[in-house]
Amino acid sequence: MEIDDHNDEIKACERCRLHENRTQAVPNQGSADADVMIVGKMVGYKDDKVGLPYQGEAGNVLDYALERADKTRKDVFLTNLTRCYPPESRDPRTDELDRCAPYFERELELVDPDVIVALGKLVAERILGRDVKIGDEHGTHHTYNTLTYRGEVVVTYNVGAATYEPGLRDTIAEDIVHAFDLV
Ligand code: SF4
Repeated sequence: MEIDDHNDEIKACERCRLHENRTQAVPNQGSADADVMIVGKMVGYKDDKVGLPYQGEAGNVLDYALERADKTRKDVFLTNLTRCYPPESRDPRTDELDRCAPYFERELELVDPDVIVALGKLVAERILGRDVKIGDEHGTHHTYNTLTYRGEVVVTYNVGAATYEPGLRDTIAEDIVHAFDLV
């Protein structure tokens, strides 16, 4: 399957209740040839309106981090564990994450990145399959090993957290720079 077919499938998806609230599903953005995949937990309010991930202030935090790494959005693959905006920006529920998970697994096969950047606790715990304390583990990397994929996972804060704690902008940027150093 090609990435465009994959994205078309997501745009038509009604596997979980989140499709009821969306303006549109937001599959991903960036290069399917990227070495670094950046993964968040969910689509934001503006993402839902625009149809692209990481819009608004959280997107500015991400773009700042990429700039610090001397990269742009074209140099990475940006995705989320869920692709439809949750009501009132609540966290996605476990069953919603489970329903959307096959899309993430397929993206790992299609993109085959060397490094995954996990944005925030929920994402890091879903990917690593264990409890994660972001304050202790941000900037560290771990080997992710499944039947279909093996690569490094760099843990950092959710970019949304830096919109109300500005000091995290540089922390996230440094962690993302570290991710590129692993390639
Ligand atoms: S969040 Fe994922 S599983 Fe749920 S409807 Fe959207 S694309 Fe489908």
